[in-house]
Amino acid sequence: MKIPFSPPYIDQDVINEVVDALQSGWITTGPKVKALENEIKRFTGTKEVLCVNSWTSGAIMMLKWWGVKEGDEVIVPAYTYCATALAVMHAGAKPVMVDSGDDFNISVEAIREAITSRTKAIIPVDIAGFPCDYNAIMNLVNEPKIKALFLPETENQQKFGRILVLNDAAHSLGAWYEKGIRTGSETDIAIFSLHAVKNVTTAEGGAICLNLTEPFNNAALYEELRMMSLNCQTKDAFSKSKAGGWRYDVIGFGMKINMADVNAAIGLTQIRKYNELLKERKRVFQMYNEAFSKYDWAVLPPKEKDGRETSYHLYALRIKNFTEEKRDAIIDEIAKQEVAVNVHFIPMPMLTFFKQQGYNIDDYPVAYDNFKREISLPIYPQLTNDQVQYVIEAVLSAYEKIK
Ligand SMILES: *Cc1c(COP(=O)(O)O)cnc(C)c1O
Repeated sequence: MKIPFSPPYIDQDVINEVVDALQSGWITTGPKVKALENEIKRFTGTKEVLCVNSWTSGAIMMLKWWGVKEGDEVIVPAYTYCATALAVMHAGAKPVMVDSGDDFNISVEAIREAITSRTKAIIPVDIAGFPCDYNAIMNLVNEPKIKALFLPETENQQKFGRILVLNDAAHSLGAWYEKGIRTGSETDIAIFSLHAVKNVTTAEGGAICLNLTEPFNNAALYEELRMMSLNCQTKDAFSKSKAGGWRYDVIGFGMKINMADVNAAIGLTQIRKYNELLKERKRVFQMYNEAFSKYDWAVLPPKEKDGRETSYHLYALRIKNFTEEKRDAIIDEIAKQEVAVNVHFIPMPMLTFFKQQGYNIDDYPVAYDNFKREISLPIYPQLTNDQVQYVIEAVLSAYEKIK
């Protein structure tokens, strides 16, 4: 039985919605993008949502908007996908990598130790869909002595008066960060990825959630950022396409990172039925939990804690006392059963580019320990119970061989 790792969820409704966009006479940013933004807003309870063409481009734009520059520092976990740090570098600042906790997420104590007067932002990452401890992180940046360290250098930073918290919520659309509150509104800014392997997808895409407090106006900010995502052109292509609407101006240094309607159409039907899709992901997660909880070598992934609940994006199984070599060998065994698994993540300091920048994995012992024993199992709504059972058996027999 062949089990792919993470195929996109494409049913007839998705196809119909895309065909509708194609036949409408308008294929780039327009009504479908607006509808998707509204659906994500409604689903998450976020104040404003702006869709762009990827998580990465959205994060670069938000850091540019915030005004980071050379010499500034942005704190990120070492244990994440490379985009988290690359966005910081593209925006012109230095990623300061810190270690993680046992739940895979950035350690709040490590953040505290890394804060300097150059720190302009923190990017926590909800690894596998399990939200970070945002109450602790938001309390930290609001502590009087941490606020006193903050050196505002732009008008926005002046108005804000503290370190910005931008959640890399690439995995956590649909997670609960507190009882009754979905992720998206837990930090100043949160960005979801709508990439092909994520829970809700537009093939490529990102959704920026705005939750800034006074004196910022999120609705006005939405308009400003929307323009910024369209080269800071005062009129978008939709308005310009109307008769007589040709004249425009360019009023700032923008980027070209808008989402197209054909892409938005893919995600639109998915988010409309997302509650059901989440239930199916949870079913798979529970089946794995039930099976592996019988073995004391298996460390189950974080699921729920103090009102926080995962979005069931990844099933990140860890194996007690395993070495990297044994983990790699167990993956080879599982692959022989035609089950595709993955590892989330190779910590950034282990990747050539970041090594060249001077980062060293020895400085991140927890990140390395999480990585070396981790295997991500397939988890998506289309998996049948028989298929999940097949994956479980493939893992169990591989473990018996390798241990
Ligand atoms: C997928 C992912 C990203 C990047 O998302 P894109 O939409 O592909 O730019 C960023 N951070 C994490 C943790 C991711 O998994």
